[in-house]
Amino acid sequence: MPKLILVPGPIGNLEDITLRAIRVLKEADAILAEDTRTAGNLLRHLGINTRLMPYHSFNEHKSLQKIINELMQGHTFAMLSDAGTPGISDPGFLLVRECIQHNIEVECLPGPTAFVPALINSGLPCDKFWFEGFLPHKKGRQTRFKFLATLPVTMVLYESPHRLVKTLEQLSEIMGPDRKACVSRELTKVFEENIRGSLSELILFYSTKAVKGEIVITVEGHNKKNQSDEE
Ligand code: SAM
Repeated sequence: MPKLILVPGPIGNLEDITLRAIRVLKEADAILAEDTRTAGNLLRHLGINTRLMPYHSFNEHKSLQKIINELMQGHTFAMLSDAGTPGISDPGFLLVRECIQHNIEVECLPGPTAFVPALINSGLPCDKFWFEGFLPHKKGRQTRFKFLATLPVTMVLYESPHRLVKTLEQLSEIMGPDRKACVSRELTKVFEENIRGSLSELILFYSTKAVKGEIVITVEGHNKKNQSDEE
């Protein structure tokens, strides 16, 4: 029976891989990898020599039919992204949808993803939350900010280090400087950092230094207490 198994990989710390993920990667007929070099490093570390097949976001539409044809021969493919869970701000969704349309079984293993530890580390309410992922750089950016400002739940954004301060400033402009937030940098790595404070405090903290590494921004939702800050 053909099957696609999405396998979350570490987001920095190579110990963050489940026993089941290792078994699935070993047993799969092939591993679809966003970047075969990054996946190759992980597989070497785990002593796995399953065949790797490239699966790039830029040719995701093109690769689909070829992969579906191979799966239909009865293969089981695992899918790995560069970091974390495939499909979360990474390629995966199109292939999952295509598999479902072709009655190919799809299974996503639970495992590492950056937004969960960032949300929990923030100390902001995590009973309900909004995952925004990456904001558009230009077109539609302002519309997204206006939408986010009205959300009554904690929101989680992915951001690059060189855009961090600009994004914090834009969030502060539209949500008010006192809105609580957290910047999680280099999660699971040696220099992990979770800086909590108001948006204005975070701007001050990060404006004075060169920011490097991978970043998640978590922002408090709109509520009666912070409503007045925006006006
Ligand atoms: N698939 C991944 C996941 O499940 O989280 C996300 C991949 S996305 C292309 C990469 C972004 O995820 C980074 O720019 C950053 O915002 C976030 N990210 C990934 N690893 C991280 C880490 N160790 N610390 C903080 N943020 C991280």
